[in-house]
Amino acid sequence: MLKPHRLVMIPGPTPVVRSIQDQMGRETIAFGDPDFIEDFKSVVRDLKELWQCSGQAFVLAGSGTLAMEMAIANISKAGDKALVCSNGFFGDRYAEICRRRGLKVDVLSAEWGSSVTPEDVKNKLSESKYDIVTVTHVETSTGVMAPIDEIGKIVQEHGALFVVDGVAASGGAEEYVDPMGIDVLISCSQKAFGVAPGLAILWASKKALEKRRSLGTILDSYMDFEKWLPVMEDPSKYWGTHPINMIWALKESLRIIKEEGIKERYARHARQAVMVDEAIASMGFSILADKNFRAPTLSVYLYPKEANVDDAKFRALVAEEGAYIASCLGDYAGKGFRMGHMGNIDKHILISAVAAIERAAMRVGIKLEPGKALGILQSGFVEESSN
Ligand code: PMP
Repeated sequence: MLKPHRLVMIPGPTPVVRSIQDQMGRETIAFGDPDFIEDFKSVVRDLKELWQCSGQAFVLAGSGTLAMEMAIANISKAGDKALVCSNGFFGDRYAEICRRRGLKVDVLSAEWGSSVTPEDVKNKLSESKYDIVTVTHVETSTGVMAPIDEIGKIVQEHGALFVVDGVAASGGAEEYVDPMGIDVLISCSQKAFGVAPGLAILWASKKALEKRRSLGTILDSYMDFEKWLPVMEDPSKYWGTHPINMIWALKESLRIIKEEGIKERYARHARQAVMVDEAIASMGFSILADKNFRAPTLSVYLYPKEANVDDAKFRALVAEEGAYIASCLGDYAGKGFRMGHMGNIDKHILISAVAAIERAAMRVGIKLEPGKALGILQSGFVEESSN
């Protein structure tokens, strides 16, 4: 049988469009090439402008976890107090990173599927003084989006530094650094930017940069803002070798984002998330995230209980039918799947991904009306086009 093309519908990496692939496939040039230096400058400039950051944007080789660690390395010292708001697996990861760096950590946890609320944060901050508060914007283990705008205001009033993990959100869910009172926003290339894995991306507020200066020499060197600041201002300078082709790929991603319009990109993600959720739910799956906190970038769908679905078999069948989906984490492992709907995914991709899931669902014996989920998407797309 002819094997279908496999769409990458896990919550990152996401499908990488041809024009971005082409940038990664270009012949690598010297990092001192004047054209490349201009390309890098434009990437940093676009990141600052689109995310409304009057501080500094940083782009370097690494993954999201490096960015998480780099944020903490630059704005804290051992013994500082951190409040980690955890809505799941990646919130807990932030708590571990902070603890390992010697911070005194309190964790404010929400039940999986829900979010820590601004009221929770307000209460906690009224009990004790914190130097840092971290929040995961979109929690990849649950598909929950935290209300970072409201939490940011509370954290700023308290005087702590506000760190947002935007790994599963940036480029698909609204994030504005200065207006939202974010001090360090961290992200990476392989999610809503639609680039392959390999880049750590950070935005630091002026306050965060001042904090870094006040710390003097820090233990870390590759992750040091002070080492990268001159490079980000003038990429002809050297600290670590630039990931040249990846920077070109990010440049193309930012061109696509600007062409679509960042506000429209956020609106598209919001609209299409509702459509995909409705389509998948119509097959009998349930959505883990509470209605009030659903992320525009990814969802966690739980198997219909009565269908007794074998998780590994189901995901293997979806792959056979043409789409990769991810397993659930924590207590939900085996009980459902995680699916990304972020980045440069168009109507063809969404229709094909949902169709692959529908065929696999039929093959494992889930009772459904063939085509119903696709009908929901089709009607949604037509409504989108006529608005
Ligand atoms: N934070 C969140 C919210 C994530 O989803 C991930 C990765 N799935 C990370 C951090 C870690 O990023 P990476 O795997 O690129 O190190």
